[in-house]
Amino acid sequence: MEVEIATIGGYEAVGRQMTAVRAGDDVVIFDMGLNLSKVLIHDNVETERMHSLDLIDMGAIPDDRVMSDLEGDVKAIVPTHGHLDHIGAISKLAHRYDAPIVATPFTIELVKQQIKGEEKFGVQNDLQKMEAGETMRIGDKNELEFVNVTHSIIDAINPVLHTPEGAVVYGLDKRMDHTPVIGDPIDMERFREIGREGNGVLCYIEDCTNAGKKGRTPSEAVARRHLRDVMESIQDYDGGIVATTFSSHIARVKSLVEFADDIGRQPVLLGRSMEKYSGTAERLNFVDFPEDLGMYGHRKSVDRTFKRIMNEGKENFLPIVTGHQGEPRAMLTRMGRGETPYELDEGDKVLFSARVIPEPTNEGQRYQSEKLLGMQGARIYDDIHVSGHLREEGHYEMLEALQPQNVIPAHQSLKGFAPYVDLAENLGYKVGRDLHVTRNGNMIQLTE
Ligand SMILES: [Zn+2]
Repeated sequence: MEVEIATIGGYEAVGRQMTAVRAGDDVVIFDMGLNLSKVLIHDNVETERMHSLDLIDMGAIPDDRVMSDLEGDVKAIVPTHGHLDHIGAISKLAHRYDAPIVATPFTIELVKQQIKGEEKFGVQNDLQKMEAGETMRIGDKNELEFVNVTHSIIDAINPVLHTPEGAVVYGLDKRMDHTPVIGDPIDMERFREIGREGNGVLCYIEDCTNAGKKGRTPSEAVARRHLRDVMESIQDYDGGIVATTFSSHIARVKSLVEFADDIGRQPVLLGRSMEKYSGTAERLNFVDFPEDLGMYGHRKSVDRTFKRIMNEGKENFLPIVTGHQGEPRAMLTRMGRGETPYELDEGDKVLFSARVIPEPTNEGQRYQSEKLLGMQGARIYDDIHVSGHLREEGHYEMLEALQPQNVIPAHQSLKGFAPYVDLAENLGYKVGRDLHVTRNGNMIQLTE
């Protein structure tokens, strides 16, 4: 059987991930993501109303026109997890394929919300839930399997397409967490089995984000301990404490909520995306927040909550807000500019349970936000965080578990691929032979 990989997006920079695998007559698409920085750099761009081709030209969504060169039928569109760089283009591209969108329950719910917000296209694809550990037939000869992985968002999986020629394992995005705060540990046992059974692994596509960092990525339990340490150290402070993190990082939000209670403060989630992700996770029973936990997204209800906090005393609350990257319209940035009823005083604490995504726009915005907060007297606690991506030792472990015949580095620029290429070559892979460094819009023929 012919097996071919189309590297459509995310092979020149992080963002707009999309890869298609053709096995015989069947095609499966993994991820359809958005490169948000290409959108945010323009003022007032509303993607909801934009046409796909314009977004492709901006470099915001994958250029899927290469799909017409693949001779087969798309049988499934499979987003691996709910981050925007993996699902953000579904509302713009999925309607062009007569195939269901297959994902885990939390991811499906986020896809559903995105489709609802779409104003240009009617996306009618079936939404099909599949849990980690489950499988689904793809045509007569292939099978799709979800393997549980751990990442900075809940309900993440690595999909595996089992073909008669061997398995194609799509490895974006994960870290090897054996003590996650929510959900099951990464299923390394299953990866090792897949490496040994049948024809083994024909191809492994891997996220190279942290390949240049030595050692292994710490568990979410480590970030949780770090956070507890910071919060206990300031528990006697009788002024304002404000925290921010990735809204989609439900495990981190859960830790913040719990520790707020431990230090005698009432947690409250503020900002549109805080309300969206935490509300969704709670509705789907991924997390059990206290019944009276307030979540407010709309400007008016947020401002009303801030007024209540100021009236009842800042020392009784922990606002958990959006704005960890200094996004201009996010809550923390507005607080820094003095645009909310919440008043910061000399010595108030601001906790960034996140790291700056290393990209000039983020770095500039975050710098500005911290400066504005500092000018009002706020004290900054930053980097209370662990990454969601594998480091060097995790990459070695994956390659040793899967023993893939071919490896394709992904989710980075060429520069980002370099450290991964080095470590794969240490294990005997060779660029141009079985280690395929590629760009967006290419085809890699694995078997004939
Ligand atoms: Zn991700």
